[in-house]
Amino acid sequence: MSDTRHTRLLIIGSGPAGYTAGVYGSRAMLEPILVQGIEPGGQLTTTTEVENWPGDTEVQGPDLMLRMEAHARDVGTEIIGDIISDLDLSKRPFTAKGDSGTVYTADAVILATGARAKWLGLESEEKFKGFGVSACATCDGFFYRGQEIVVIGGGNTAVEEALFLTNFASKVTLIHRRDELRSEKILADRLMKNDKIEHLWFHTLEEVFGTEDPLGVEGVKVKHVNTGEITEIPCKGVFVAIGHAPANELVIDQLETHMGGYVVTKPDSTATSIPGVFAAGDLTDHLYRQAVTSAGMGCMAALEAERFLAGDE
Ligand code: FAD
Ligand code: NAP
Repeated sequence: MSDTRHTRLLIIGSGPAGYTAGVYGSRAMLEPILVQGIEPGGQLTTTTEVENWPGDTEVQGPDLMLRMEAHARDVGTEIIGDIISDLDLSKRPFTAKGDSGTVYTADAVILATGARAKWLGLESEEKFKGFGVSACATCDGFFYRGQEIVVIGGGNTAVEEALFLTNFASKVTLIHRRDELRSEKILADRLMKNDKIEHLWFHTLEEVFGTEDPLGVEGVKVKHVNTGEITEIPCKGVFVAIGHAPANELVIDQLETHMGGYVVTKPDSTATSIPGVFAAGDLTDHLYRQAVTSAGMGCMAALEAERFLAGDE
């Protein structure tokens, strides 16, 4: 039999946006329930040093997220390890079904489901996922001690992953489709100065190849974007770091989205097209996608939810 829990404020997601919404929602005496999802702590749990969180010159991503979780819990947020599989925003109270069997009903909802790594969509990428192809250097880098690795992409994630992987790999080749990095300059400078890293400009990944039994990567075929010339690079690991897409599957048919699926919010607000439903963090942000901006939006969402619920009374 399914258990039903009612709350005034349901927060879906446990990244910087969700936990900050929990802190503000609790201090507004809304007694929020926060459902953590499959990745408690969100994307920052997949990285090491975070160097742009104000107040900490350097902090480990997983530590920062544990501190945020403790803060939200200490001020009164009920934090639940569950995954929302279905969300009905067509009438209030809103209804969310958890994988655990629990049904959550809520007078207001803050969506903070963030973003997930994008993949190239190649058949060979799919085939070797978990067997040499990864999107998380901090999770899998350790397996490549003394090996050669390639990283695909030119943004902050790709550069940080390439730098991090030099802790294990004998050589890292960063493969980027242009000759200019999108990453912050400070990271690009570190990359250029690291003699374990080579870069290959104007190339895209065509194919990952390897052994069948056991399944494992032996190399990649890359294509020059102008000449079409194919080159083979031997490597044991392929890290795909080509950006992130909003985790919008719960609301894609219910809320307006734009710019590749980001939830639209009203100007200077986290309010969505449905009254009582607010969206914060990477789910709605195609521009900045930072921990601090996500936390800021989580704060806004909780304050707006408080005002919305006060209007109910
Ligand atoms: P996320 O952190 O993406 O969290 C989303 C949450 O939603 C997760 O807890 C997930 O479990 C939950 N969720 C999703 N679906 C469901 C569901 N169906 N039911 C319940 N819960 C669900 N930013 C910086 O400012 N500085 C950095 O140094 C930095 N480094 C980064 C390094 C890497 C490798 C990556 C990938 C990102 C980095 N970022 C950094 C970006 C930063 O992590 C994001 O901007 C930020 O985490 C977004 O926060 P969020 O709360 O919107 O969502
Ligand atoms: P991103 O900034 O969107 O960069 C994605 C990179 O992948 C770009 O260089 C892009 O190339 C390339 N790319 C995209 N699709 C591709 C394809 N199909 N084939 C080949 N290359 C492709 O994504 P991100 O690096 O994951 O960063 C996401 C957000 O998180 C950003 O806002 C970032 O600032 C933030 N973040 C911050 C930090 C930090 O502050 N230290 C660390 C990590 C992430 P083009 O450049 O040619 O478009």
